[in-house]
Amino acid sequence: MANGRKALALALGSVAVASVGLVSCGGSETPTAEPPTAGPNGERSPNGAGGSESHRQSAASLKGKTIVLDPGHNGGPVKGHQVFVGNGYKACDTSGTSTDAGYSEHAFAWDTSQRLQKALRAQGAKVVLTRPNDTGSGPCVDERAEIGNENKADAVISIHADGAAASGRGFHVIKPKPVKGLNEEIAAPSSRLGDAVRDAYRSGTGMPYANYIGTDGITVRDDLGGLNMSKVPKIFIETGNMRNKTDAAKLSDAGFRQRMAVSMAAGLTRYLTGG
Ligand SMILES: [Zn+2]
Repeated sequence: MANGRKALALALGSVAVASVGLVSCGGSETPTAEPPTAGPNGERSPNGAGGSESHRQSAASLKGKTIVLDPGHNGGPVKGHQVFVGNGYKACDTSGTSTDAGYSEHAFAWDTSQRLQKALRAQGAKVVLTRPNDTGSGPCVDERAEIGNENKADAVISIHADGAAASGRGFHVIKPKPVKGLNEEIAAPSSRLGDAVRDAYRSGTGMPYANYIGTDGITVRDDLGGLNMSKVPKIFIETGNMRNKTDAAKLSDAGFRQRMAVSMAAGLTRYLTGG
């Protein structure tokens, strides 16, 4: 805690590694913007099947499941000292990015996590957040992983927004690339979790896959403490690029954040219920 002095060397730190060359997939502006309609409670049927099946789904389909939500970064001062992440060292925490208008990633992640928490609790899940507010200094990245482990979470999702070049649009899910002797056992379930959230997020929000990183909305990394140190299925989602005007407008809109949360809840539900 006390050593908040160390300069934060890794600029965008654990997640928003944005210095990626633009690949420009050429207009992945696929406005598949389906409204998050569906069920009477605003829940999307995981299969889009509609009818009585989806009714049953929405009630208490996550009863007995524990989900840890990790709102990226934190509102307080960055600690920034180095912590061991299994195969090297990373900054304890980083400040994250923000939109041009000054909407910060940590505030975005906090708000979206609150919405997601509500949606998941409504389905009977036990939900644990890695930080209690958006004002203090949050836990280090290794401690965030430990919170998922201690709670024996069925699934963990770390919520972020990217700080890539302004021309980069879209979202991507980060899956753990297994590190030998460290997190190999979570690779397969995390991959399934990632696919489920990727699919639900895309169809529920209409956000395109990132056009500057990854393949079909998926990236795989072994340099994130939050993934390396996890013993339970875990992914990160970079919900959009805060440095891009179109994405920033969406991320800054409360109604859209609600859509994001409902979509992520649908993906988590699909993964956890095998639907
Ligand atoms: Zn971030």
